Amino acid sequence: MDSLVHDRQGALGAQDDLSGDGRGIATPARALATEAVHAGREDLAALGLHAAPIDLSTTYPSYDSRGEAARIDAFAADGAEPEGPPVYARLGNPTVARFETALARLEGTESAVAFASGMAALSAVLLVRNAMGLRHVVAVRPLYGCSDHLLTAGLLGSEVTWVDPAGIADALRPDTGLVMVESPANPTLAELDLRAVAHACGSVPLLADNTFATPVLQRPAESGARLVLHSATKYLGGHGDVMAGVVACDEEFARKLRQVRFATGGVLHPLAGYLLLRGLSTLPVRVRAASANAAELARRLAADPRVSRVHYPRIGGAMIAFEVHGDPHEVIAGVRLVTPAVSLGSVDSLIQHPASISHRIVPTADRHDAGVSDKLLRLSVGLEDVDDLWTDLDAALGGPGGR
Ligand SMILES: *Cc1c(COP(=O)(O)O)cnc(C)c1O
Repeated sequence: MDSLVHDRQGALGAQDDLSGDGRGIATPARALATEAVHAGREDLAALGLHAAPIDLSTTYPSYDSRGEAARIDAFAADGAEPEGPPVYARLGNPTVARFETALARLEGTESAVAFASGMAALSAVLLVRNAMGLRHVVAVRPLYGCSDHLLTAGLLGSEVTWVDPAGIADALRPDTGLVMVESPANPTLAELDLRAVAHACGSVPLLADNTFATPVLQRPAESGARLVLHSATKYLGGHGDVMAGVVACDEEFARKLRQVRFATGGVLHPLAGYLLLRGLSTLPVRVRAASANAAELARRLAADPRVSRVHYPRIGGAMIAFEVHGDPHEVIAGVRLVTPAVSLGSVDSLIQHPASISHRIVPTADRHDAGVSDKLLRLSVGLEDVDDLWTDLDAALGGPGGR
């Protein structure tokens, strides 16, 4: 049990060896920081370009309709990316493909498939499995509120069994198509030993939501997760101005995801693909700088008598969850530098009350069972000066005993 609680995988340094092993894991030759600024752009110099071009075409002309028929047949048969122009923008987009290439390189997977949002990405995974008759999902709470809702409500026809990490193996059935976890989890920052979880899944694909850690701190595919999900709206974009989702995985699963994306239409806009590729270039620097701020704020909060609990992950990161003795709504009302808003992973700091917003849609009893107390606040730490952030939090926490 204890072995399932913490992922002992350390943070990746710029010099760390990124080579992987096992199925679907590519072997990048270069360090993460280098890939972040070069992956997906290797052809630019030969094109005479420095910045990636944005291709906004919705359709691609061709005088060879026999050739187009063959390309559509090939995509329908196996979901491989069409060679040459994509025929129609719902099949693919060259700018988005650059982001997919780069993210796959950072996560150490063969492929990645981008979607219009994190929820569209998760939906596509569920649809792939449901279409194979594998409708049962085993999941560990807490998950992001809408992911929890999508599974609990069975909106796409899935049936979910919620378990503790130690109960995963026993919960698997012949029709189990997916095991889903988050680590560190939204919003409590609870951590799992992903290697132990992957082992417990046997041959059932493990989906690890890596939104909070990013590949800078943790690469779940190396621990055996077949699917790595991101709300790219958060750290990958990193500036609070683009909504996107992406699944990093082996090419076999990516082909099924591309077919679902084509059929259901949850594509990513090329401008978003461009912004995400740009966001990736600074991802390692942003995550490390914001994490240093967060570690310091977590230390100050833990020492503060107005704060009853602080949750800060062992692997680090820029997210803090903390509980206050006083009224959490007053803390939200009291911040002036930190923005009181849902979402996370931006260059600026955001704070929200999960029981009111991000996890409101989860039934109260389930929310409480998952450790999401009504006193819990979730802070996404940005790149501001740490003393300015502390001054703001200190004032928002109120007088000596808190608000
Ligand atoms: C925000 C979030 C999602 C959903 O992503 P959207 O881009 O908002 O659709 C999924 N998982 C986690 C952990 C999140 O924080």
